[in-house]
Amino acid sequence: MRNFFASEMGFRTCNQAVQIHGGYGYMAEYDVERHLRDIKLMEIGEGTSEIQRVVISRQLGC
Ligand SMILES: Cc1cc2nc3c(=O)[nH]c(=O)nc-3n(C[C@H](O)[C@H](O)[C@H](O)COP(=O)(O)OP(=O)(O)OC[C@H]3O[C@@H](n4cnc5c(N)ncnc54)[C@H](O)[C@@H]3O)c2cc1C
Repeated sequence: MRNFFASEMGFRTCNQAVQIHGGYGYMAEYDVERHLRDIKLMEIGEGTSEIQRVVISRQLGC
């Protein structure tokens, strides 16, 4: 559950960082672009966010 929460919050934060930087945030020359790409892996690797939602809901008996 911690991995799920941290990856979702991390992606949201990095996505906002790209948005704040505007066009520069999208360019590969700036670290903020890499941060968004790197954090996306956290939503895919070791179980995607969707699958983690399924696992958590089962643990909660939903
Ligand atoms: C770089 C990298 C490293 C990885 N490292 C590991 C690792 O160390 N250990 C490990 O176990 N796995 C690892 N994986 C696998 C990863 O955890 C995912 O399980 C795998 O990428 C998903 O399989 P798929 O790509 O075939 O997507 P699919 O299974 O085809 O899924 C595609 C999309 O559909 C969604 N989806 C699939 N089934 C459902 C469902 N029932 N309900 C809702 N949505 C669904 C998924 O969330 C995803 O968004 C890694 C993957 C990558 C890319």
